[in-house]
Amino acid sequence: MSLRKEDVSPGGLLSSAPPLASFRIEHLELPKSDPTWRFALAANPSSPGFLLQLFGKNGVVGSASVGEIQHLGYRLGDMKNALEKVLPLVVSGKDDAGSLIESLNGPSRALVQMALLDLVARSRQVAAHELLGVLKRGTVRVTRILSLKSPEQMAKVAASLVSEGYHDLKIKLDNKDSNLDFERVSAIRGTVGSEVNLTVDANQSYSAEGALSISNRIAQFNIDVFEQPVPWDDIEGMRFLRRRSPIPIEADEAANSVERVAELISAQAVHGVSIKIPKLGGIDKALQVAEMCSDAGLQVRIGAHVGSRLLSAAALQLAVVIADLVEPAELAEFERLEGDPVTGLVVEQGRINLPGGYGFGVSVSEAF
Ligand SMILES: [Mg+2]
Repeated sequence: MSLRKEDVSPGGLLSSAPPLASFRIEHLELPKSDPTWRFALAANPSSPGFLLQLFGKNGVVGSASVGEIQHLGYRLGDMKNALEKVLPLVVSGKDDAGSLIESLNGPSRALVQMALLDLVARSRQVAAHELLGVLKRGTVRVTRILSLKSPEQMAKVAASLVSEGYHDLKIKLDNKDSNLDFERVSAIRGTVGSEVNLTVDANQSYSAEGALSISNRIAQFNIDVFEQPVPWDDIEGMRFLRRRSPIPIEADEAANSVERVAELISAQAVHGVSIKIPKLGGIDKALQVAEMCSDAGLQVRIGAHVGSRLLSAAALQLAVVIADLVEPAELAEFERLEGDPVTGLVVEQGRINLPGGYGFGVSVSEAF
């Protein structure tokens, strides 16, 4: 268990935050450098989301960013409507502002919780992780995710990422043809050699039987994790695989709330969980899930935080306090997006070092 110093729920943060003067919420859509980047559930040429700024009356600004998560049912339009209702009431200092934020869900709640955390940390002139727990590491190994393409093309991208210094790669699978998935993994392992750590993510595209078959076939390529092989609500399928798969099974889409993670734990359905702040609804929820998983002996990994550096920077503050974190973390996907107005987070030789600044430690461009 981490020794948390602070109540970092929205209500707890509101009681430590300076009075709020105003807020600003902007649509933030970052084009992908490779517009054909796709996974089993989506193929968008850009990554849409929001950037929220909360302006304290003390002159300090708290900022946060999330993307929409269409495949989990969180769409930009609904999020904007809900946020535009709640934020003016939060800024006006209403007594029930904490519960208004609790009425938001998933990425919308996460956006406000993170902006409040950044605001409180910056107001106290400390890094956000100092409010979250005990610092366990100052640097985190990061992976990059390989878009679905032909085996040859994926192997080429893999080689280029390894030449940039990455030691870890995640391979997307889609089960359009399980032989093609096999060839993808085979080609990538053949190209990058034995020193690079590989995981696979099927984004729910296999049946339990089909996933067991492909797991048995690709295990020879030394794969560390098989992420979300079956549909998110197929707990029985995950249980089946957890007992038989030679590759450890990880829940991502299935682990979309504290309550769902509790179900997965009690069903002994998976070996590990992919933690993402937006889907879980905030850093406080993510910490709760990390503790639940550690206590149950499950692997805790930080999943992809796709969007601005601001989102990865927030997740990095979380990653550095999780005692049992299994690296790599999926915190480098901003590298494949363009036009980010946020600076201060840098990948070097497949690692990200904790930035030195207050709050999340990154800067939003004055021009944004
Ligand atoms: Mg995933």
